[in-house]
Amino acid sequence: MQPHNKTELLDIGRRIYPKVNNHIFSRDAFVENACDLCGSNRKKPVLLENEATLCRCLDCGLYYVSPRPSDKALAAYYEKYYDASEEEIAWWRFTTSKKFVVAAKFINKYAPTTRNCLDIGSGYGFFLQELNSQHAWQSCLGIDLDPRGVAYANACSEFPNVAYRNISVNDPTLEADSFDAISAQALLEHVVSPRQMLSRIYTLLKTNGIIYLTVPCEQVWIWLKHWIPAIPFRAMIPLHLYNFTRPTLERYFNSTGFFVEYVGITPSVRHADAMTHAVVQTSKWLAKILGGMTLGRWQSSIGGGLIVVGRKKERS
Ligand SMILES: [Zn+2]
Repeated sequence: MQPHNKTELLDIGRRIYPKVNNHIFSRDAFVENACDLCGSNRKKPVLLENEATLCRCLDCGLYYVSPRPSDKALAAYYEKYYDASEEEIAWWRFTTSKKFVVAAKFINKYAPTTRNCLDIGSGYGFFLQELNSQHAWQSCLGIDLDPRGVAYANACSEFPNVAYRNISVNDPTLEADSFDAISAQALLEHVVSPRQMLSRIYTLLKTNGIIYLTVPCEQVWIWLKHWIPAIPFRAMIPLHLYNFTRPTLERYFNSTGFFVEYVGITPSVRHADAMTHAVVQTSKWLAKILGGMTLGRWQSSIGGGLIVVGRKKERS
């Protein structure tokens, strides 16, 4: 693989972002859906993007796309999420490297033991490589719906204890109570039911095992865009089926059997557009300052993304 300099990588990113941000599903493939968190049908439309509507649940505050693309349309899309071109792989490596360093530090810090780790949505496999370069785990598995990402990850893995498989999280060969840590980075916003995903993760974790996840938390930007449509914010709907707040995420965790151990702001993913990058960076710093001043109450509201670490409680 040819090394790219930063300017080339940002050019590649500028070509890749619109392809992902502007994906339009056929309206024929849309289905009606209630709130995944509380079951309510009372909702307010707040944003229209890519011919899909982001709503806010009037009962629990969850932001969700409604109606949404069907399970079949989403599955077909994620089976071909990566094009595995040399340029795309280089861009993904560049844009995710910082957040994977942070994620590996968190998991190595909070996991009860370093025996078994599962990475859901492992893509090109970079995260588990970073995890093991910081600390040797006994056995790690990455799973992804796109066979091209899995093939690349297996071909390039530097660790014999790390494997990647082209299976879904519901595959019956994954055993209950078998993982000390599960990473679900930038995953929950893409799945049809975060509740079902969290319940499945609960089943797969050992008691006291941890979940590390990152999700978009952009309600300030959503409402700014709602009132001032010219703002160049993209909620990435309907690929992002959900947008979370600290209270909605905590309610999800509490109702699926987890303690919340830690909530914080995600490290910056490098944005290809310089203006976007500057705005995101500034808002994250502002969010950190506000968070410190208000003892966490405003910490995540303008930061753009949340890190949450949860721990599996004993079965009651
Ligand atoms: Zn709700």
